[in-house]
Amino acid sequence: MTHKERRQKLKPLRRQLQQLLRELQQTLEPAFQRTAIVKGNVYDRAYRCQAKHCVCQRGQLHQDVGLTWSAGGRHRFRQVPAGRVVELRRKSRDYLRLRQARAEVTVLSKKITGVLDQIEAVRREEAFHE
Ligand SMILES: [Zn+2]
Repeated sequence: MTHKERRQKLKPLRRQLQQLLRELQQTLEPAFQRTAIVKGNVYDRAYRCQAKHCVCQRGQLHQDVGLTWSAGGRHRFRQVPAGRVVELRRKSRDYLRLRQARAEVTVLSKKITGVLDQIEAVRREEAFHE
């Protein structure tokens, strides 16, 4: 392969690699934050209680906010006190972002390895021509 041919073949691969690098940089943003995070998912809950003549039995459901998470293979749930809803929502959201980033890094890393293999294939030549 001539120098020019190699350059031509490397051009789109280098562009892909640059693009993946930008994506990786963006993806890693949550990893550079320093704030505390909380494992789990904060969600709004609407439910009926056990009381026989409560308003909830006529369709006016009770509402609260819960946090669910898993620990040691067990599914856990706690009601979130009103005073901690904003805080725990933020910390749980940041936890999910970090986990999401981790998952995306795994996918990106496979894509990057794929491009590296292609670059190797284009650049590689035999040391000796028999
Ligand atoms: Zn009720």
